[in-house]
Amino acid sequence: MLNHGSGRLAPGILQQIGRTPLVSLRTLGAGLPVPILVKCEHLNPGGSVKDRIALAIIDDAEARGLLAPGATLIEATAGNTGIGLALVAAARGYRLVCVMPEKMSHDKRAALATLGAQVIVTPNASPADPENFRNVARRLADERGWFLTDQFRNPANVRVHAETTGVEILEATGGRVGAFVAGAGTGGTISGVGRCLKEQVSGVKIVLADPVGSALAEWVERGRCGADGSYAVEGIGGSVAPENLHREVIDAAERVSDDESFATALRLIREEGLLVGGSAGTNVAAALRIAARGEVEGPVVTVLPDSWDRYRGCAWMRPAGAGA
Ligand code: PMP
Repeated sequence: MLNHGSGRLAPGILQQIGRTPLVSLRTLGAGLPVPILVKCEHLNPGGSVKDRIALAIIDDAEARGLLAPGATLIEATAGNTGIGLALVAAARGYRLVCVMPEKMSHDKRAALATLGAQVIVTPNASPADPENFRNVARRLADERGWFLTDQFRNPANVRVHAETTGVEILEATGGRVGAFVAGAGTGGTISGVGRCLKEQVSGVKIVLADPVGSALAEWVERGRCGADGSYAVEGIGGSVAPENLHREVIDAAERVSDDESFATALRLIREEGLLVGGSAGTNVAAALRIAARGEVEGPVVTVLPDSWDRYRGCAWMRPAGAGA
């Protein structure tokens, strides 16, 4: 039954960021020795976990006096941080430029343009290449005097996950967590939540979910990145470890193929009513494996980083027989 009675006047949309529900997977998690609990970050106002860091980074820059009224922000983004920043920039009166690699979905590009951000698309270039999206963003910030929000390095990213996402998981579970699993784009989610949980929950395992083709799993296991290849899941994995990915809080890595990620995301959509993107499939596929091994004492917790609405044009969203 529809649960009503808590209708309330909110002071503004930015206050609705965070405090997302933690939901148990009734169908996908059935029969496992421990529950799978998923944090619904796709329900944030901008549709992703990145709303949290967008607000935290801008609050931090304002507090340190780095943003003049009407300032221009620039970020290298797979799309979700751009959408979060655009939302906060709109509410606070800043201009936003997003530098995005070509491989990212057209839906995200279109969303950023609709939000009024300027979008610069770069080739899918390696980190050493001057045309790599991070290098282009840094160069433009230097040349034009724009504020680089710098999600890959900015400590406000990891901090907000330790102080909000991690604390909310502790509150919702009463501190009973067997393992926490997440993919890493910037590393903010896994490093921040991982740090918070390790401080509070003895024996908790922190596990990186990494796309097959990313070099980060090997970096977790051996301390150096191996060869990387291509993969289609967006927003996670990479060929080098970003500064905000903290190896000391991560215990292990699980590799997940594109096929398994997208199949699991479709199951979340169809069997659980969780309207999520591909990296949620990566995270949940890894979480299911960890739970099935029976080696952890408490629930396996993970995050659903973003919403399905930014992948509508992607092939994996149009399964065979679904028509155009
Ligand atoms: N999934 C998606 C779809 C993302 O866009 C991101 C961020 N790039 C992540 C997961 C990973 O989050 P983090 O940057 O905190 O590692």
